[in-house]
Amino acid sequence: MKITYRTNNSGGGWWLSTEDWVGLEAAGWTVQWENWLGASATSATIEMDTMEDAIALWERVTGQDSTDPGCSCCGQPHYFYEPYEEGPRPPRPDRSVILTED
Ligand SMILES: [Zn+2]
Repeated sequence: MKITYRTNNSGGGWWLSTEDWVGLEAAGWTVQWENWLGASATSATIEMDTMEDAIALWERVTGQDSTDPGCSCCGQPHYFYEPYEEGPRPPRPDRSVILTED
């Protein structure tokens, strides 16, 4: 299933660096690159069998805690969504790019 990750600037700063987004892309995530309020990106998607797999991969790449509560007034910084609608499955990401890690 397609899983979407979305982040916000809880606490007034971005939680993922450009390096983190590049790492997610290298690990198979499709990053929606944009330049928004100083962020390189704010969302990414991946095709995984389970939400747990997607979150585990995300945590491995970013070194962050997916359940971090963030700022108490802004809410949590990390959101993971499952698709709501049924539809054709997108092709799996090209995992060959993982080999570029040093
Ligand atoms: Zn706040």
